[in-house]
Amino acid sequence: MDIVIIGAGLSGLTAAATLAEAGASVQVVEADSRIGGRIQALRDPATNRSVADLGPTWVWPKYQPVVAEWLAKLGLKTFEQFNDGDAVITGYAPKPLRQPLPGQDGMARIVGGPAALIDALSRRIGAGHIRVSAPVTAILADGPDHIAVHLNSGETLVARHAIVAVPLRVAAGGLQLPWAPQSLIGAMRSTPTWMASHAKAVALYERPFWRDAGLSGRIASRLGPLVEAHDHTCAEGAPAAIFGFVGWSPERRLQGPEGLRRAILSQLVECFGEAAADPLDLVVQDWATNRWIATDFDLAGPPEHPEIGPPVLRARHLDGRLRFAVSEMSEVSPGLIEGALSAGHRAAMDLLTS
Ligand SMILES: Cc1cc2nc3c(=O)[nH]c(=O)nc-3n(C[C@H](O)[C@H](O)[C@H](O)COP(=O)(O)OP(=O)(O)OC[C@H]3O[C@@H](n4cnc5c(N)ncnc54)[C@H](O)[C@@H]3O)c2cc1C
Repeated sequence: MDIVIIGAGLSGLTAAATLAEAGASVQVVEADSRIGGRIQALRDPATNRSVADLGPTWVWPKYQPVVAEWLAKLGLKTFEQFNDGDAVITGYAPKPLRQPLPGQDGMARIVGGPAALIDALSRRIGAGHIRVSAPVTAILADGPDHIAVHLNSGETLVARHAIVAVPLRVAAGGLQLPWAPQSLIGAMRSTPTWMASHAKAVALYERPFWRDAGLSGRIASRLGPLVEAHDHTCAEGAPAAIFGFVGWSPERRLQGPEGLRRAILSQLVECFGEAAADPLDLVVQDWATNRWIATDFDLAGPPEHPEIGPPVLRARHLDGRLRFAVSEMSEVSPGLIEGALSAGHRAAMDLLTS
């Protein structure tokens, strides 16, 4: 084995696909029982088709050349975020307001959701080269030419190179890296993982009935529990969906998941009418409870978008045999899908050309 890649999120899989395409022998090891990391689809149980996104949704290919390049490379298409009609705005006036809210120039959705990126990359890598439910516990030098990657099963993988594609705070707190200088550990700990403390709710319906009433499906609310919501109907048109970001704190969400669901439904009814009361499905994905993504540092304060971090995050370590590759360390769009694509590709190319 030439290269072990730790983490099967978008960064790790982009690195693995790039290396596999160049003929390298790669093994991806993922702690969770599924691949994708923060990218997760809600799938139709009968067909396995992705019908909604529980993690990221939007890309801006007009302004994100790396995204545009990978979409073309993987043969994926985008479609517009629906935003025709009025938004419902609550908590800004005594009664709910109805008015259009501007969309974002260039904002797009991927047909099949960002999970289509994960599916396409993993096909390129080959299922035999990706292991799930295999948390890494330590990464050590193994003689002058190799790296030993220890799994919590007691197994050790030995390779010539390693790419650590794990959220930086998770890696700093959960992996033994005895060779790492304090400057590196400090930079990892102080880099927030984008959206790690958030929860996203998706309500599926047979039809986008709110559109009949001239509503865009958007909500902006100071009252919550959804502080922001959007039409999330998939490219095929059915099922229809609304997704929203939950404004309750991680502790409050944990204390009352059923109360949260009831409050979301009553907010949807208030904004869109009685037809919203009985969705086909209502799923709340709480990223703060995923220990492979969120740490206590992420939950301690308000969510922060990462800035471009110091060069030590993008440096080679262990005599050039180890690199990091996760969205937050990227110099391009850190924290975003574009950052993950860029970080994974950069780490792979650096390894191939050094
Ligand atoms: C709710 C939400 C909404 C978002 N919205 C957008 C959006 O609209 N547009 C956008 O551009 N971005 C958005 N983002 C950010 C985007 O999802 C991320 O930038 C991107 O998915 C990060 O990919 P990654 O591979 O770098 O990291 P991750 O997806 O975090 O992958 C890291 C992987 O490492 C694994 N791992 C952790 N510890 C170990 C271990 N010890 N051993 C082995 N594996 C381990 C994890 O399980 C995970 O699979 C959103 C994120 C969330 C959560």
